[in-house]
Amino acid sequence: MTITYEYGDGLYINLTNRCDCACVFCIRKNDSEAIFDHNLWLPQEPSREDALADILSWDLTQFSELVFCGYGEPTYRIDEILWICDRLREAVSNLPPIRLNTNGHGSLINERNIVPELAGRLDRISVSLNASTPTEYCAVTRPRAGMAAWDAMLEFVRESAKVVPEVVLTVVDYEKSSEELEACNQLATNLGVILRVRSYTES
Ligand code: SF4
Repeated sequence: MTITYEYGDGLYINLTNRCDCACVFCIRKNDSEAIFDHNLWLPQEPSREDALADILSWDLTQFSELVFCGYGEPTYRIDEILWICDRLREAVSNLPPIRLNTNGHGSLINERNIVPELAGRLDRISVSLNASTPTEYCAVTRPRAGMAAWDAMLEFVRESAKVVPEVVLTVVDYEKSSEELEACNQLATNLGVILRVRSYTES
């Protein structure tokens, strides 16, 4: 079972397969082993203790960042993520920045506003934007909650930017025109964050 793996300069942490979306570009539709050389589909979700032990088995100071990314949407395990962040900050001096890669639906998924709990735990958040309009967003990400997921994502970004040092919106350039990408950029600016455009083959 792969809980942690190196990718680029970072250590990626995989706690769940669950997701409330079915994005048209999701790598879970492809052969993950071909992309990452790991089998990322978890036979069962690791306990917080097992995940922490796995993370601490690495020399964490060698990484540029630690990234909670899931193979699914990591905020399904937000309580475990918060607990692990606290333990890591207690146990490791010179801890690299901790990033969360998310679709921004964490408050929707957990049926509470999780943003205040992120302060002091996370250094960075990358939120998948994927589209500049709610209609396009739902067409691309196919969220279980429909249009409510768009509003939840925007609210999560707006509020997170107030308590987490670095919040970035990301968009995959999958079938995106330059006009759409510029509209995404404008949306990010309006939310007070920056936009990062990722290529389809990038993680
Ligand atoms: S949010 Fe991420 S894990 Fe979920 S379907 Fe989209 S790309 Fe896949």
